[in-house]
Amino acid sequence: MPKVDVIVIGAGPAGSAAAAVAAREGMAVALIDKATFPRDKLCGGGVTERSRAYFQQAFGQDPDFDNILSTSDVEFWHAGKRLAQMQDVAPIHLAMRLSFDDQMVNRALELGALDFTGKRISAIEGTSVTLDDGQEITAQVLIGADGVNSQVARHLFGTAFDRDRIGFALETEAPKTDDSKALRIDFNAADWGYGWKFPKTESVTVGVGGLISHNPDMKARMQSYTDLLDLEDLPRIKGHFLPFGHFRTQPGKGATLLAGDAAGLVDPITGEGIAYAIKSGELAAKAAVAALNQGRADKAFALYLLALRPIHRNLRIARWLRKLVFSGRYQNAFFDRMGRSGRLRHDYLNVLAGRLEYPALLMKSGRRIPSFLLRGLRRRS
Ligand SMILES: Cc1cc2nc3c(=O)[nH]c(=O)nc-3n(C[C@H](O)[C@H](O)[C@H](O)COP(=O)(O)OP(=O)(O)OC[C@H]3O[C@@H](n4cnc5c(N)ncnc54)[C@H](O)[C@@H]3O)c2cc1C
Repeated sequence: MPKVDVIVIGAGPAGSAAAAVAAREGMAVALIDKATFPRDKLCGGGVTERSRAYFQQAFGQDPDFDNILSTSDVEFWHAGKRLAQMQDVAPIHLAMRLSFDDQMVNRALELGALDFTGKRISAIEGTSVTLDDGQEITAQVLIGADGVNSQVARHLFGTAFDRDRIGFALETEAPKTDDSKALRIDFNAADWGYGWKFPKTESVTVGVGGLISHNPDMKARMQSYTDLLDLEDLPRIKGHFLPFGHFRTQPGKGATLLAGDAAGLVDPITGEGIAYAIKSGELAAKAAVAALNQGRADKAFALYLLALRPIHRNLRIARWLRKLVFSGRYQNAFFDRMGRSGRLRHDYLNVLAGRLEYPALLMKSGRRIPSFLLRGLRRRS
């Protein structure tokens, strides 16, 4: 029976980061994933400078961006009309998750994590697990980084997510028809969400996503969006849940911690999830190491929750601000302003590209928000 210090379930950005950090700190770590790598994950693959910085911190090296298209060319659209094109922004790197995640899992294994990829879990008992080949692995801390439909979250709390508050996205890899490097975002391609067209080196990722509660027919939204973009003969369209603004206030219990999508750590305005997945994986590992060094594995969650505070604060502010971007009451005023105000466009883009965090945005724009709210209300009445 393998005995380790930390078990990490899920080897996406959150799990690989957690395993890499714990292994670097000298812990014995088992990294389990039901998939065999390289494996794909439905995702736009937009890697911001925020994600890149967190990657460097967790994995101790820069991501390999060879064969990845990086762009500083961003277009915002609303209702089929181009609001703005910006070409002087921080680069956004457009990765394929097949190879991007492979880098991370390989790095975690290189740093000493034990490889249990390609293995399913048949039972979780405390912080130990049984694999479906009958193997048992025991540990003192368990990190659930197993995505939005987390088995570990279900084990702890009965459900992985609240369908009424979560998002859903559809996406496809369209063939490349031109050399444009413009990353395109279409607000209102979905309600409380958006559509996107991300150019990659070999294809173009096209998708729509938003809150399920506001988009009962996401397939129709995707059809309208691909019609708008004049795309035909598309490969299979796939769907995936997205914890878009619904984070868990209690992401764990005792010696069991949840990281990344399992903890609901996706930006409620931009949909960015890779950055907080990596960062929360790192924080979960550090909390585990600190608790184990004190001989108090059961304190891991308390330490982790404390470390997550800045991320939770960002997400709370973003969840409040998204009403200005997405709600029927303020949306037109917001986009009207976005079309006219270079400052607002830059701020939005700097948030998107990872150069500005929400608390700083609020400090910068706080004084303008009341008059904006008032204009939105007047328009409505
Ligand atoms: C359509 C779409 C587009 C997106 N675009 C972007 C984008 O452009 N930029 C961005 O930053 N974010 C984007 N996101 C969000 C981003 O994909 C996620 O936030 C991110 O992948 C979360 O990482 P994670 O490690 O928590 O989970 P995941 O990447 O989902 O990894 C979870 C891992 O756990 C494994 N697993 C699951 N269950 C089990 C189990 N029971 N046992 C063992 N292993 C298990 C899975 O095989 C998987 O490898 C997008 C999401 C969607 C749905």
